[in-house]
Amino acid sequence: MLGRAVEDISTGSDSDYSNSWISWFLSSKGNEYFCEVDEDYILDRFNLTGLNSDVSNYSQALELITDNLDDEIQDELRGALDVQARLLYGLIHARWIVTARGLAKMLEKFKRVDFGRCPRVLCQSQPLLPVGLTDTPYEKSVKLYCGRCEDIYSPKSSRHGSIDGAYFGTSFPHLLFLVYPNLIPPKSGSPDLSFGSRSTDAESGKRNRRMREEQEVTEGVGELISTASVAMKADRYRPRIYGFQLNETAKLQRWQEAIRDRQVAHLEELEERG
Ligand SMILES: [Zn+2]
Repeated sequence: MLGRAVEDISTGSDSDYSNSWISWFLSSKGNEYFCEVDEDYILDRFNLTGLNSDVSNYSQALELITDNLDDEIQDELRGALDVQARLLYGLIHARWIVTARGLAKMLEKFKRVDFGRCPRVLCQSQPLLPVGLTDTPYEKSVKLYCGRCEDIYSPKSSRHGSIDGAYFGTSFPHLLFLVYPNLIPPKSGSPDLSFGSRSTDAESGKRNRRMREEQEVTEGVGELISTASVAMKADRYRPRIYGFQLNETAKLQRWQEAIRDRQVAHLEELEERG
């Protein structure tokens, strides 16, 4: 609230637009991942169906967002209402960014690299997209999805790390790539990449051998680390649109997992013999 008051004074006689709740919210530090939801989308009650049960003081929170809140109420309830208004805006935002206009707005942000770049070296600074691990608020914070390695990362800044993932939803990045397939980053192609993976294969082979030697030395001392069990436990991120796993990705992942299972069985065999 203080932030807004200060800003109101500093911006002085700006237009109504720049003094709106939404533009204040968007310009607040830490809210850089959010895009502007069109006012006519918010004013169409059909788009907000069901949200009244998720947000307490729903009507007033909605009035605050659309700058229609009575000035007298504004002073009394403002602080509590602001929390509800943020929640409501976040939930509307999750619905908005999977509409055609919402996707286009997030696309602009993606092109401006507003969500940062993939930290994985071989992804060559691929721009990221925000994603939720659940569509229910207050469960999981927002993560960043890389279309190149198809994995997810935590935001670098703690300000972004505490944003609710439900304000972006589980489907958004996958729907964006479905609507704009030309933006799907290539999985390979650069000669650097193939060289990189060859060299790491050789290195990990060496590492595995070394690990087995170390295991033999420490055998009987503590609990043995089984390479097979580590491989089996590795969690994978599964892209979904409205809860359904993506067809091509699912096919590829089933194939990769069949290969992995075969390798795990092979490792188990080796470990039993060793
Ligand atoms: Zn990546």
